[in-house]
Amino acid sequence: MAAGSSSSPSSSTPSRYESQKRRDWNTFNQFLKNQRPPVILPQCNSNHVLEFLRYLDQFGKTKVHLQGCIFYGQPEPPAPCTCPLRQAWGSLDALIGRLRAAYEENGGPPENNPFASGAVRVYLKEVKESQAKARGIPYKRKKKKSTSSTDPKNIGDDDDDSPSSMMPYC
Ligand SMILES: [Zn+2]
Repeated sequence: MAAGSSSSPSSSTPSRYESQKRRDWNTFNQFLKNQRPPVILPQCNSNHVLEFLRYLDQFGKTKVHLQGCIFYGQPEPPAPCTCPLRQAWGSLDALIGRLRAAYEENGGPPENNPFASGAVRVYLKEVKESQAKARGIPYKRKKKKSTSSTDPKNIGDDDDDSPSSMMPYC
């Protein structure tokens, strides 16, 4: 591919997506290997995917206020607080999309794809709703005005803490 094409502001050129997908996939496989006992791909199910998502939270950069925090529900708190940092829902959602594709590209049977399972969908939905409440930012198609993007495809992309950029590679 030529490097001459102008870069789009949407930050998702195919090659970048592909390399991110590969990195995500490697990280996930490393995660499976690090389980006790190690998990091989054919054994991988939605529980492993959910554990992986929870594991990633420790590398998150998105402040998600706890219910007791005085800034709960405030999109832009005036002061710092001690609430934990998490992976933003948009990052997790994008990550799952990439891993779902990678799973099938690496020979996983589509009918068995753990990234497409109902449990993972439910988990993402819960994260989305709880983060929307805690941060006061509804993850919905914005009708009035848009903060960063007018493209509905980019919804959820408002946080730049892509999991891939901060995962440990051991
Ligand atoms: Zn807080």
